[in-house]
Order: sequence, then structure tokens, then C-alpha cells
Amino acid sequence: MKLNALSTLTGPPGPTERMPLLFLGHGSPMNAIEDNEFSRGWQAIARSIPEPAAILCISAHWETRGTFVTAVEKPRTIHDFRGFPRELFDVQYPAPGSPDLAGKTKAIITGTEVGLDQTWGLDHGCWSVLRHLFPAADVPVVQMSIDSGRDAQSHYELARELAALRERGVLIVGSGNMVHNLGMIDWENPQGAFDWAAEAGALLKQLISEGDHGRIVRYDALGPAMRLAVPTPEHYIPLLYVLGLKAAGESVSFFNDRTVMGSISMTSVRVG
Ligand code: ZN
Repeated sequence: MKLNALSTLTGPPGPTERMPLLFLGHGSPMNAIEDNEFSRGWQAIARSIPEPAAILCISAHWETRGTFVTAVEKPRTIHDFRGFPRELFDVQYPAPGSPDLAGKTKAIITGTEVGLDQTWGLDHGCWSVLRHLFPAADVPVVQMSIDSGRDAQSHYELARELAALRERGVLIVGSGNMVHNLGMIDWENPQGAFDWAAEAGALLKQLISEGDHGRIVRYDALGPAMRLAVPTPEHYIPLLYVLGLKAAGESVSFFNDRTVMGSISMTSVRVG
């Protein structure tokens, strides 16, 4: 039943209302199994949105050459980390895949060739948050990879091609961290933020609120704090997908709005 809305993708829009967009700051993989302010924030946001027919997740942890979508019936749970407790490696997130949504995503993207992938599953950028949003794991999930050969502007433009999915009950989730510098983690201050991290986070929130996506896309020109906040782009790019999909006049709100361990912003964004 959940896929009924999807079946109309190539036809006129069905009765489904436009789904919101979520950028989720995922942070440590331990958030997957902890009951903390962030996991409770994810649970709360799921209660506040319509039940999706399916989820399309763009995670920081799947980088490829070219753009791919997972097209498997039963995506495996990928434990793509090391040095964490056994309990975390035991987690399975058995949400079904959706080759149907994968095929439709490929079909609506005309600006680039999208490959149907049979090898990936759900990485922790995806399942560590989704198991809190949708603990029953009954909503089909497709991941879309981040093409490491694209620049920020080109990711932003690719995102816009996904807009029709929102009208068909698909929840599009970007999972990363808008400030993410693992090399500067402050183990002495797990609840704190370095000045530069606070500055970059505040600037990004201001630009998101003002809808100044041009400056967000050209983040490397935003000064030294932003250069420290985004030393590599993979955790930032999922934010560009969510902002690229924002329609004119849609509301924006923030949640889980806190920086931890000095250099990781958990700040999350809801659009619509
Ligand atoms: Zn991550």
C-alpha cells in the first residue's frame, strides 16, 4: 500500500501532499543506539510529518564516481565504521528497498546518467538516524550516492531534478553534518563548540534562514571558520540537496541545534 503514491510518478500528481525535506546532522554512530537529545529530536520530527510512501536518502557515507541509486529489494545494513562497541555492530535496519523508486529516480533525472546499484545497502549515515525516525523499518528506503566528481553547484542543481518525488509521498533526507571536522574533535569538551565551529554554524543558519543559497553553495569563499567547518565536502553536500529542493516560500526550521565535541554540529533542518 505504501507504494501506491509512487505508482503515479510518471503520470499527473496524485492526491499526496508535498512531503517536507529533512537535513539530519547524524554525528557519532553511537547516536544510533543511544537515547539522547538527538535521538529524541529525530523521533519527534518523524511524528510531526506525514507518513512517507518511501524515503530517498543522500548520505555523507556513500561517495562514488558517477551518481547511483540502490536498486535492491532488501538493502543490507552496512556497519561502515571501526572501534565501536559490539552492540552497534549488532544493529540491523531491515527496511525494504524499492527498485521501483530507484527506477523512477533514474527516470526523472535527465541532466546526468544515474546508475542502478546492486551492491550498496544502507550505510550508517542512513540507518543510524532512520531507526529513530521509523523504528518499525517498514518504509522502503533508497540511497542516492554522492558523486565525488561533482562540485557543490552541480550537486545543488542535481537536487532540483528530484522535486517531483516530493509530490508522490517520498521523504528526501540528507544525512551529514553542516560543521564536521574529525581532525579537530575536542575529547575534553564533549558538549562544547570551538569558536570557529559556533561561528560557522551561526552563519550557515543565517544564510539558510535568509534563503541565500548562492553563498551556501560557494562555502569555500565564506572565510576561515567555514574552511575549518568543511575540511572535506562529503558531510556538507547532503545539505545542498535539501536546500536545492526547497520551493519558493517554503518554511525552514531547525532542530537538534547544538554542536558537540568542539567541531561537530548536529544542527538539523526541516523544509516545508
Ligand atoms: Zn558521518
